[in-house]
Amino acid sequence: MNFERVELSESDAEFRDEVDAFLAEHVTDEVRRRDRETGDNFDEGLHQAMAAAGWLAAELGMPGGPELDRLRRRLWDLSKRRAEVPWVTWGTTAIVVPSVRNHGSRELQEEVLPGVLDGSVRLCLGYTEPDGGSDVATCRTRAVRAGDEWVINGAKMFTTGAHNCRYVFLITNTDPEAPKHKSLTMFLVPLDTPGVEIQGLRTVDGDRTNIVYYSDVRVPDRYRLGEVNQGWSVLLGPLNEEHGVVGAAADGLQDVSILTHQGLTMATVVDRVSGLAAGRIAEDRSAAYRLGRSVAKVEAALSAPHMFGRVALAQTMRDIAPDLMDVLGPTAALPSGPDGPADAGYLYRWAPLCGIYGGTLEVFRNMIAQHVLGLGRPAYGRSKPKVGAAAG
Ligand SMILES: Cc1cc2nc3c(=O)[nH]c(=O)nc-3n(C[C@H](O)[C@H](O)[C@H](O)COP(=O)(O)OP(=O)(O)OC[C@H]3O[C@@H](n4cnc5c(N)ncnc54)[C@H](O)[C@@H]3O)c2cc1C
Repeated sequence: MNFERVELSESDAEFRDEVDAFLAEHVTDEVRRRDRETGDNFDEGLHQAMAAAGWLAAELGMPGGPELDRLRRRLWDLSKRRAEVPWVTWGTTAIVVPSVRNHGSRELQEEVLPGVLDGSVRLCLGYTEPDGGSDVATCRTRAVRAGDEWVINGAKMFTTGAHNCRYVFLITNTDPEAPKHKSLTMFLVPLDTPGVEIQGLRTVDGDRTNIVYYSDVRVPDRYRLGEVNQGWSVLLGPLNEEHGVVGAAADGLQDVSILTHQGLTMATVVDRVSGLAAGRIAEDRSAAYRLGRSVAKVEAALSAPHMFGRVALAQTMRDIAPDLMDVLGPTAALPSGPDGPADAGYLYRWAPLCGIYGGTLEVFRNMIAQHVLGLGRPAYGRSKPKVGAAAG
């Protein structure tokens, strides 16, 4: 891994300063406070401002925004992170856009893409169902053809951001008799279609997600992405993106793994706790030890690439959050926010979720065991008792 510091040219440093000034103007304390309160991880005004300045187009590599080479893209991403720009709904939108460009009809692209660039159209992910999300291909939400339309019935769990989005990237089952990977068809369903009902759901860390019900939802065939029953091939790109199975870049100008964003928030919390507990560290060797161990674990997790990084970051957050709360004492439980004590309590509540969304820790551990270490498929059934084994 390359840990070298990148020296900025004068014009790149100027670019970074302009970016920081833009973010300081638009990502106000009020934006951050509102985001914590709503749990939306999205801010309409800020999103519109980024669209108007061409940042959304630039990120998608489409015309109309500032030119971003790899270094400037990195500077932009890091500045956004430092400024705490809410990221989830733009993140899901950016994941789905390539599927619309690669698999949507020209008509659908013309309907959707200009709105994505001007900030009025956002896209969310409708994969998980109430019966389970780890096995994405097992889908019960049905789409049945009726002339030039499709009729959709079913329910999706955890459709994060649906209440701020215009369309959902929806997995449907169009052939229940077929093997599961050949039964799927993808749609971009307008969320204002009659029969769509969005119900809010708050998670333990205060984030907002949704359950979305689909009752006789009729959508024209133009909202289909890709071929009927070949949805798996449409889904693979976005799934890989979300799982973070993309290789690290040799120039070091991108995150080495997904969840780095969460990892850097964790690093900030460790720093703040260290600052607040400085007096205690001097007197109490166990507090110093627990903080030191937390710092070391965070550093190791942030350096782990690919799927390993994802597992290391989510596991580390679970491991260190209780230590940070102990070190800080009762103030750790105070409400968090821009003026909050150190966000250790927030980290504690956030940690379980980071090991669930986009695929659980257990599933990724199995993927590493199977695909990287070659340990074969896990067998979860009860092992058969050996003949002649003693009872008891
Ligand atoms: C905050 C949040 C936001 C989310 N946002 C979205 C979203 O926008 N869109 C969306 O579609 N989904 C979203 N999800 C859903 C998320 O992707 C699923 O929760 C996740 O994939 C796990 O599915 P599940 O919760 O149904 O658990 P299940 O799949 O039912 O799993 C239950 C338990 O069994 C274990 N398990 C399951 N399969 C295996 C296996 N093969 N090997 C070992 N253990 C296994 C799991 O680890 C887990 O402990 C979100 C979830 C959260 C918490």
